[in-house]
Amino acid sequence: MAAMQTDAGHSPSPVTAPLRHVLALIDYDGTVTTEECIAVTLQHFAGDAWLPLEEAVRRGEIGHAACLRQQIGMLKAPRREILATMVAAAAPRPGFARFVAALTAGGARVAVVSAGLRAAIAAVWRRDALPAVDVYASELLGDARSGYDIAYNPHFGDCPRCGPGGCKAGVLHRLRRPGDTVIAFGDGVSDFCLAREADSVFARDSLAVLCAAAGIDYHDLSTYDAALAAVLKLACASPP
Ligand SMILES: [Zn+2]
Repeated sequence: MAAMQTDAGHSPSPVTAPLRHVLALIDYDGTVTTEECIAVTLQHFAGDAWLPLEEAVRRGEIGHAACLRQQIGMLKAPRREILATMVAAAAPRPGFARFVAALTAGGARVAVVSAGLRAAIAAVWRRDALPAVDVYASELLGDARSGYDIAYNPHFGDCPRCGPGGCKAGVLHRLRRPGDTVIAFGDGVSDFCLAREADSVFARDSLAVLCAAAGIDYHDLSTYDAALAAVLKLACASPP
């Protein structure tokens, strides 16, 4: 489900493409954006009803994918209003556009890997004229009358932690090529399987806590300018 593809398939030279072995996999909600857009949308349309499910995930009673499915099922508004609310809540973090432009100019492959809605992400990309990336995200199924469900991207994998078809590591398995340095960027529980399998991790919030508890080294994802400097350093340190 690769949208907004930018890779022309050529083989850039090491001089002009120092990041040609970098595969950057970036979560969307709260990682690309300053706000948790799904949370803002749920709060707007469902009040506090979505919050107990978040607690159930924290207690390990349900997986994050099943949680989101149930939360999306709480929405009763027209699709257009749901998407408009998600898009209005989304502001890319400072430096994000510059960061992606520099990665792709350096030959890196960049993909957004999200449980969020593809249509909302695409609308934000168009609105803010963000640099082209591949997007692996979800589709909103149903309507206000019959109820909504969510279809995860078909390249998400199965895992005991995330549940069937809910694991972002499936995208990593699909995109990783021999010799790649895979770098994961995320902030949440749903990014943990990506982080476990990546070569380097940039994390904040819940993902940082999970990585620390699991003994996974990570960089603080404080700003995208700092992340870019760290990625360039990493690429120099890992020769092809
Ligand atoms: Zn998983």
